Amino acid sequence: MSKQSSDVEKKSPYSTPAMKQFKQFKDEYPDCILFFRMGDFYEMFMEDAEVCARVMGISLTQRSAGVPMCGMPHHAMEGYLCKMIEGGYKVAICDQLEDPKDAKGVVKRGVTRVVTPGTLTDASLLDEGRSNSLMGVMWVDGKDGTVRSEGLIAWVELSTGDFYLMRVRADELVDEVARIGPAEVLYVEDVGGERPSAINAICGAVGCAATGRPGWEFRYEEGFEVLCQQYGVKGLGGFGIDDGDTLVGVAGVVMRYLMETQKLGVTVPGERGAAVVNGIAHLKGPKVFARRDFLMVDQVSLRSLEVDRTLKSGGTEGSLLSVMKDCKTAMGKRMLRQWLCYPLAEKGGIEQRQRVVGALVEDQFFLGELRETLGQVQDVGRIVGRMSVGRGNPRDLVSLAMSSGRAQDLVRILDERDAVAGYCVRMKELAEELVKFGMAVMAKCVDAPPAHMREGGLIRDGVDQELDEYRGLQRDSNTWLAGYQARLIEQTGVTALKVGYNRVFGYYIELTALNKDKAGASWTRKQTLKNAERYITEELKEFEGKVLSAKDRAVTREATLFGDLCEKAEGLMGVLQRYADMVGELDVLCCFAQRSSKYGYVKPEIVEGNVLDVVGGRHPVLDELLGDGLVPNDVKLGVDVDGRWVSLGLITGPNMAGKSTYIRTAALIALLAHTGCFVPAESATVGLMDRIFTRIGASDELHTGQSTFMVEMTETANICNHATDKSLVILDEIGRGTSTLDGLSLAWAITEHLAKLGCRTFFATHYHEITQLPERFDNVMNLNVTVREWQEEIVFLHRIVAGAADRSYGIHVAKIAGLPAEVVERANELLGQLEVNHDGAGLIDELGNLETAGVSGGDGQMMLFGETKYIDHPAIEVLKDLKIETMTPMGAFDLLRKLREEMVGG
Ligand code: ADP
Ligand code: MG
Repeated sequence: MSKQSSDVEKKSPYSTPAMKQFKQFKDEYPDCILFFRMGDFYEMFMEDAEVCARVMGISLTQRSAGVPMCGMPHHAMEGYLCKMIEGGYKVAICDQLEDPKDAKGVVKRGVTRVVTPGTLTDASLLDEGRSNSLMGVMWVDGKDGTVRSEGLIAWVELSTGDFYLMRVRADELVDEVARIGPAEVLYVEDVGGERPSAINAICGAVGCAATGRPGWEFRYEEGFEVLCQQYGVKGLGGFGIDDGDTLVGVAGVVMRYLMETQKLGVTVPGERGAAVVNGIAHLKGPKVFARRDFLMVDQVSLRSLEVDRTLKSGGTEGSLLSVMKDCKTAMGKRMLRQWLCYPLAEKGGIEQRQRVVGALVEDQFFLGELRETLGQVQDVGRIVGRMSVGRGNPRDLVSLAMSSGRAQDLVRILDERDAVAGYCVRMKELAEELVKFGMAVMAKCVDAPPAHMREGGLIRDGVDQELDEYRGLQRDSNTWLAGYQARLIEQTGVTALKVGYNRVFGYYIELTALNKDKAGASWTRKQTLKNAERYITEELKEFEGKVLSAKDRAVTREATLFGDLCEKAEGLMGVLQRYADMVGELDVLCCFAQRSSKYGYVKPEIVEGNVLDVVGGRHPVLDELLGDGLVPNDVKLGVDVDGRWVSLGLITGPNMAGKSTYIRTAALIALLAHTGCFVPAESATVGLMDRIFTRIGASDELHTGQSTFMVEMTETANICNHATDKSLVILDEIGRGTSTLDGLSLAWAITEHLAKLGCRTFFATHYHEITQLPERFDNVMNLNVTVREWQEEIVFLHRIVAGAADRSYGIHVAKIAGLPAEVVERANELLGQLEVNHDGAGLIDELGNLETAGVSGGDGQMMLFGETKYIDHPAIEVLKDLKIETMTPMGAFDLLRKLREEMVGG
């Protein structure tokens, strides 16, 4: 910085032309970090620089006094961008829109894209096995006038173009959002600027970013306009969307945000010459998601069953998804998660998948060949997306072409096999165009393309006359240079004379310092090194101009040719997307077949009745971990056991016996059966379900900081309210989070409710009293886990058998563990007394009378604990009417103090 300008900058950091420009864009994108292109670098200034230096771990410098700055070379930008996005920031990339050489005054710049967590397309920023979607959510009042009764969701995967809309009940919205798992959520901005608590709940459950948008963007009219504009249509009937459908508003928000962040219409100087226009033309038409087609699995159940993440670490390792993940393609990996989280609800669809899996399992050669060929198909879905937003690179193009070529092989492999006839027909429809495209590209491009077009090297020789000419000039130059060097050596007699090239100084003649007096009279000195002198001559200069311009022209020409081929790919977008989807499906089916044959899964029989009958069922994750060490167990629900039709199993037994594992096994087998996969068992009959509910009692779960008992009861209430006779309900130690008698009463009432409903249910509990329920309900059965005592040790056999567990087991365990004899004796004595007081006919009868007690207890408690008479006191009245769930901790504290004052007088 010269002295003069630093004087000026004392007034304002924004007084230089470049900084003025920076300020202008920063004002336009106040919520983004601005990557500001300056020559070969992206620079960040002021607060942005401080944030970036911290997040990216790079050093902070000063552009001038009071202007903090940091930066990175433009070619390394992706990696840093990745760190910022992972750090939860949005980044606006401000590029130079003209070559600085041509610029009059300050270089023209513009924001060419805004990168946000939900709008990623670059391979380096994405996990190939996970979708990355942007979602709009809103609540609306029902048609019948009920307030906020409906939730509306629209989500788009920019990297592949998938676009879905969904309508849910308001109370199901968070569940559905969590099941979809977006990367960024758009919501109606509050006037006060505070984030609504429901959005916070979503962010907490999913771990996604959230961006507020003004309310008007969610209106039907705005949505209608922007969707019609994007798809070039006059109405949305073609997408199966009725006039006036409220989903249009939320879809519009998503679309508008994409248009804004992708900077439609901005011309960016880039890989494909100067004429790249970013677009989102690859977006598929919005599809209204038919929830009825899928088995409902709410967010808590997905988590409890560890379908895509584990409870403990929250990571994928150890989840069902992680052990199932045997896909060969990126499309398959992403689709697998979707298939596991959205099992099918209809018999027809499930059996269709089963047929394909069955055919593959039976013919290992078929399976092997298909998998190998699928494995050669690159991430076509996302490459198409990248191409469309103008960010495809030469390797993308060649990958696309090579992958397209595989369509032909797939047709051959699928041909004449009944189970995959449908796939074969569809593949044939696509293959011709795909293969034509693949050959056209491969005829022009080299097999091992460069990562970018900055120096060319993509197009083969002999493809384009103009390009060949420029390349010829460059190649001839080497011959000419060799000749020139030989000539100069002869003239000067210096054999060590060299003609060389360097990026900064161009071509030069080099003499060692010793020989410098041998330089020709017409030579001009260019550069002095430690031990050498460098010169230039007129002749060499002229040559340089010719060669450099040939190189420039070759690069420009290649960029144009590359652009043409990319356009060809874009013209084929619909075909490529359908191809990607089909490859993904086939890959998941292969993955199912592969696992099924490797781990001996069997085809479950899918029936309409309310049955879950499994022989030798195994937990799919433990199955892999423990191998032969895993004890298989039978599951009998909705069938006759010892002459009784049983729909509910109560499982008791000591800790670590295998209760949780058993009931999860049942649920996971049911879930897998609905995906069309085979199941880890000797045989299985699975009656179609409408929902799977799984709840784990508070103490078994992670500490979430919320009132865990409240959470547990809310979730259980949800089950009692929504389970039907078609549902599967798995309850693990529910009722633990409160005092014993409360918990027992609740567990009892809930079990009764579910027993009456007749839904298939497993309930693992340590409330031994409940084991008396089968006496009252024919369809309830006791189960326990066999435990052996062996050489003073306890051995868990993990085998589930009929009957209630031995009650005194805990004391027994304590004895073996070495507790003093008198303590054990006393414990036994106490246990006997407690049983007299709390167990026996009295309590059971009273519990039995609580037919209508429900979850809330209420008056039931009075009857139940007859001895504890309520004292007549105003404080009791206050306590009775208390709505704890709506109180803040401070409110509760204040009330407590007030009550205490009333009682003891301050
Ligand atoms: P509980 O819920 O009764 O406390 P868990 O189901 O959590 O017990 O099982 C405890 C441990 O016992 C598991 O981590 C597992 O290693 C082992 N286990 C459970 N079931 C089986 C089984 N069927 N075969 C082999 N090991 C099992
Ligand atoms: Mg357990």
